[in-house]
Amino acid sequence: MTIKEKVEALRQELREHNHNYYVLDNPIISDYEFDMKLKELQDLEAKYPEFYDATSPTLRIGGDITKSFNTIVHEHRMYSLDNSYSKEDLEDWEKRIQRILDDAEIAFTCELKYDGASISITYEDGQLVKAVTRGDGFQGDEVTTNIKTIRSVPLQLIGDYPQKFDIRGEIILPLSGFAKMNEERVAAGEDPYMNPRNTASGSLKLQDSAAVAQRPLDCLLYGIVGPNTGITSQYQMLEKARNWGFKIPAIAQLCKTTDEVLAFIHHWDVHRHDLPYETDGVVIKVNSIQHQDELGYTAKSPRWAMAYKFKAEQVCTVLNEITYQVGRTGAITPVANLKPVLLAGTTVKRASLHNADQIEKLDIREGDTVYVEKGGEIIPKIIGVDLSERPANSQPTKYITHCPECGTELVRTEGDAKHYCTNFYGCPTQITGRIQHFISRKAMDIEGLGGETVELLFKEGLIRNYADLYILTKEQIMPLERMAEKSAENLVSGVAQSVKIPFERVLFALGIRFVGETVAKKLAKAYKNIDALMSSSIEGLKGVDEIGERIAHSVVEFFQNERNLENIDRLKSYGLQFELSADKLLNQTEILKGKTFVVSGVFESLSRNELKKLIEDNGAKVGSSISSKTSFLVAGDKMGPSKRTKAEGLGVPIISEQDFLNMLN
Ligand code: AMP
Ligand code: ZN
Repeated sequence: MTIKEKVEALRQELREHNHNYYVLDNPIISDYEFDMKLKELQDLEAKYPEFYDATSPTLRIGGDITKSFNTIVHEHRMYSLDNSYSKEDLEDWEKRIQRILDDAEIAFTCELKYDGASISITYEDGQLVKAVTRGDGFQGDEVTTNIKTIRSVPLQLIGDYPQKFDIRGEIILPLSGFAKMNEERVAAGEDPYMNPRNTASGSLKLQDSAAVAQRPLDCLLYGIVGPNTGITSQYQMLEKARNWGFKIPAIAQLCKTTDEVLAFIHHWDVHRHDLPYETDGVVIKVNSIQHQDELGYTAKSPRWAMAYKFKAEQVCTVLNEITYQVGRTGAITPVANLKPVLLAGTTVKRASLHNADQIEKLDIREGDTVYVEKGGEIIPKIIGVDLSERPANSQPTKYITHCPECGTELVRTEGDAKHYCTNFYGCPTQITGRIQHFISRKAMDIEGLGGETVELLFKEGLIRNYADLYILTKEQIMPLERMAEKSAENLVSGVAQSVKIPFERVLFALGIRFVGETVAKKLAKAYKNIDALMSSSIEGLKGVDEIGERIAHSVVEFFQNERNLENIDRLKSYGLQFELSADKLLNQTEILKGKTFVVSGVFESLSRNELKKLIEDNGAKVGSSISSKTSFLVAGDKMGPSKRTKAEGLGVPIISEQDFLNMLN
């Protein structure tokens, strides 16, 4: 046997043992034997670097350092899931999809919802080529080196896998491994980690892959995306992926009826505490891929899947004090400061009280014993008071009347649940809040500048608005508390770098009320540059997909304000991006503006997704079901007969794929 053959044979053998141990949970050699073979391979690889292989089992040990993680655009977007909390929610969903699918028979695959960090891993020719975090769903951080250290993630596939695909899953820390890590930390005099989910997602961003390799991470997979995978159902997908070497939990069930789905949910709601890892619910997916294609996606999530969230855990504790926070829009949020209590794996000290009505409705008072619940959100909430524990001298809560930051009298407008401090340009917390929003990761993502530094810079009178950031100098910053030459340089260069941030994120950063990330993207796409947006009317804005009265008013109002206009002028002069970049403009037209298309069936020259993208890129909307508002039904092969009947009944023209393509020319 040549050295090369020996190396190959060892790799192959170790791959199989890895799979047996970490995926199948069924080792056939001892840990010692395994370590010896691994050591042998390591030595050979060190001696003969010419036989390097990107899928070698020695990569599991880690060692490569990632200084900064590259941002990678997902080839296929990573969506969220819609949530449901009751039987009724689920039945509503089923009715909705039944309607879209013309009452076809629908089967469901039920899986557990694994509570960790989402990951998308790309395989080409059977080899792991990259792994990317979910990020904002459009783009995430490349963490390939770290993911390769997770033993249950195959580096080389087996069997008849598709040539190229992405597989989606969740990186988790099993409870036993988490407990062991914490034991070691406590023994070393360190604070224990709070919960497995955050620790798992934190692990992905460690720079030293050898440290990642030390953590008992696991990867549970659930979905494959890519062209020509030959997969026809979710359940079959799970089986196939399992055969290719992936770790797919066996707890997945094909259900023919809603009753079977509910039974699955009920069973796991009771038995979830017996699982080796955390789960916060069940994910129900329409089984047939053809049905999934018919149903498509909303702006955020697939219509063909639904998460069912288990009821959150509750605890009782004492409310020590109610304090009030002022947000960047001036909105006041009351906060309950609690006697620390352990809830669903984390220590809780504060809970949101939302608004004055909420406090009044539940009659929440300082000194009360309250019930605290943790739902999906990060900040837990108070859901009730244990009146039997109320102290004798208890007084009803008097909501504040003046801003705790600037003393301005609060106002509450008709129909608004919150009180506001209207001292928009004088209230320090609002000013710094706007600047903090501007620099935040999803907005201008300014490196070297954090929220506390913003407060410091403001306190020292160096900045009064976000435009001022761009004229800061190193000399001004250096004398400040906790600042040194290096950190001052980083701050100035971070600010300078940010002029490259694309228009849609600049728009989000401006902090126009109700203009979140998604809306900013829509506006940027529709108006292409800030000048066009600034001269838009309420009516014009309402014509943009998903923009309603409330957002339209807010946008117009924002651009009527002199200070905002002055800030934008200044930002322009500093070189920030106020128009869509050329590559985003390319291939986009308005030819189909105002029209709505429904797409059904299988197409010849385009995939269904390509067709939908073409529709949207040319200014039209894609509808999910036929109504009187539908302009055209694009009919492919195998379209359901009732779609046709419905279109004919409503007089909606039915066109072919070729007819559609002709419209574009
Ligand atoms: P959310 O973050 O609440 O929108 O839920 C969506 C996330 O659930 C996805 O990004 C997945 O990472 C995660 N997830 C966990 N288990 C599953 C599963 N079995 N199927 C699909 N998604 C899952
Ligand atoms: Zn104020």
